[in-house]
Amino acid sequence: MTSEIHCDSLWHGADIVTMRDGKYHVISNGAIAVRDGKIVWIGEQASMPVMAAAKTMQFDGGIVTPGLIDCHTHLVFGGNRSGEFEQRLNGVSYAEIAAQGGGIISTVKATRDAEETQLLEQALFRLRPLLAEGVTCVEIKSGYGLTPQSELKMLRVARQLGEQLPVEVKTTCLAAHALPPEYAGRADDYIDLVCQTIIPEAAAAGLADAVDAFCEHLAFSPAQVERVFKAAEKAGLPVKLHAEQLSALSGSALAARYHALSADHLEYATAEDAAAMAASGTVAVLLPGAYYLLRETQCPPVDLFRKHGVTMAIASDANPGTSPALSLRLMINMACTLFRLTPEEALAGVTLHAAKALGLQASHGSLETGKVADFVHWPLARPAELAYWLGGQLPCTVIFRGEVRQ
Ligand SMILES: [Zn+2]
Repeated sequence: MTSEIHCDSLWHGADIVTMRDGKYHVISNGAIAVRDGKIVWIGEQASMPVMAAAKTMQFDGGIVTPGLIDCHTHLVFGGNRSGEFEQRLNGVSYAEIAAQGGGIISTVKATRDAEETQLLEQALFRLRPLLAEGVTCVEIKSGYGLTPQSELKMLRVARQLGEQLPVEVKTTCLAAHALPPEYAGRADDYIDLVCQTIIPEAAAAGLADAVDAFCEHLAFSPAQVERVFKAAEKAGLPVKLHAEQLSALSGSALAARYHALSADHLEYATAEDAAAMAASGTVAVLLPGAYYLLRETQCPPVDLFRKHGVTMAIASDANPGTSPALSLRLMINMACTLFRLTPEEALAGVTLHAAKALGLQASHGSLETGKVADFVHWPLARPAELAYWLGGQLPCTVIFRGEVRQ
């Protein structure tokens, strides 16, 4: 009897940072066997069974981590707001910029006006730098169209990104992101449109994997968000929520009641919110890029999340207004320096815990038998270097579904 394992490829010669259970769990001098894009064996090379591998790849030291997952982005949008960024630094006030039609409304206009091919081109420009630094899975939200036609257009572009580039894309319908100007003073009427038309159409077209909303004084109230969640439930889609970014509205506790995959931002989350999120398994997605750009001073309550056992993820929040971030690794550094996460928590935040924020924890985010073979080889001595080096692009080899990504 031979216990020979047949595989398409065998990878060895590096230490493997598995991120099992959200911890490093390093396998020294490990090996990974892959068949049909999935891991069929992983462990110490010294204890490896006999392998019949079609292809063997030897690393020359270094470490292997799971592919990085950016679980909160707004990568698809028309134009950008670098002009406003410069105006503000030249002393022009928010009020003046708003009076000129600036702010989110300028992005809504540019997104509505753009052809699908233009949106795709612009989003490819933003997605490529993320992929170059080891991202293998990315979530992309709509939310700058705010009409049925333009929201669906954004979601189609997000899907196309996943077809054009070797990356897993999860899409989220964020029609309840902002009040479109034509609905000024009629927020409830707009929420009717979101619930009765946009969410059902996005779901029917298979364009949305989840539904999100922005719960804040300058966006939508908890009561309006709850209507959005009910519509998502009816459409069979899980929910997420932008919550507690600028004030405490108990949006994250509301999200937890609807078993949300995640509540995101959370600078003003309370102990009650944390307890509710822990009980429902809702992930806290921390977004240091927006915190940094807005020069916020209130940090998300990381100690409360630890105390209550809330799973924490980190994402780029890549968006034109508050986080034009094109580096997830920089967000790992910021989560450590600004929010005091440990490098291990931060790496879990862009691997297994980010997978959980997308409902993918059974198949993605850690290197274990049966999971997808998305991993990255780094010529580094220890995983903390991923958090330590500030900016720049570290060389890496990305393996996506068992194949080297060019
Ligand atoms: Zn966001």
